[in-house]
Amino acid sequence: MLSTFKQMAHAFGDVVFPPVCVHCGGIVERGKKPDAFRYVCARCEARIEFVAEPCCTTCGHPFYGESAGERVCEHCESLAPVFNEGRTAVLFKGAARSLVHALKYHNACHALRDIETVFKRSPRVLELARGAVLVPVPLHPRKERERGYNQGRLVAECVARAAGGRAAGVRIEMLLRRVSDTVSQTLLDRATRRANLKNAFSPASGARMNAGLKYVIVDDVFTTGSTLNSCAAALRRAGCVNIDVITFGHG
Ligand SMILES: [Zn+2]
Ligand SMILES: [Zn+2]
Repeated sequence: MLSTFKQMAHAFGDVVFPPVCVHCGGIVERGKKPDAFRYVCARCEARIEFVAEPCCTTCGHPFYGESAGERVCEHCESLAPVFNEGRTAVLFKGAARSLVHALKYHNACHALRDIETVFKRSPRVLELARGAVLVPVPLHPRKERERGYNQGRLVAECVARAAGGRAAGVRIEMLLRRVSDTVSQTLLDRATRRANLKNAFSPASGARMNAGLKYVIVDDVFTTGSTLNSCAAALRRAGCVNIDVITFGHG
């Protein structure tokens, strides 16, 4: 009886709010599998580029068709990372990008379900998250008030759930705070961004770091890596030793 009611409620919901693809606006057919996308249509789903090895160990960007050996990734050759390894689930374009944009700029928290689905299909990312303290990149308090939430934290929650949560030794701690208000970072060149970000983060009040634990900084997107590196530097100054990075997308 209950399941019939649920089916009816779902059917009714789909008539009133048909699931529409966040990228192309087309109707999304309800998939049979539990991990089917809900807001990405089959055509756009097929174009999501999941990252596979070989890829850069700093930013996670794939190396296409290159043979093994020493290589310098063009995305982070000037980064000088203070974290160990960075992994990313997908390339930040197409429907993957639209999912994050829906979350960030259109208050579309329903996109989180599909973001979690992407992580569930990214075993290398989940492997890095297991047994770790996930540290979301903090927003400046003013910006978080405006937006009403920190998308980095929501993305970290998706990673935690996809990785198996507490049972997999994953937990989330807001260990950092953003001290400088870096509003229009995207308009600045790389060098200026990096200089601005140098001391942009510090430990949150009451944060306790443990040199024996594994920390993973989580953000929605890896662009230049300077924000993530600045977070890693703040964690390191506060006593963390083992620091990795996970991002949803690279772009
Ligand atoms: Zn679509
Ligand atoms: Zn790289």
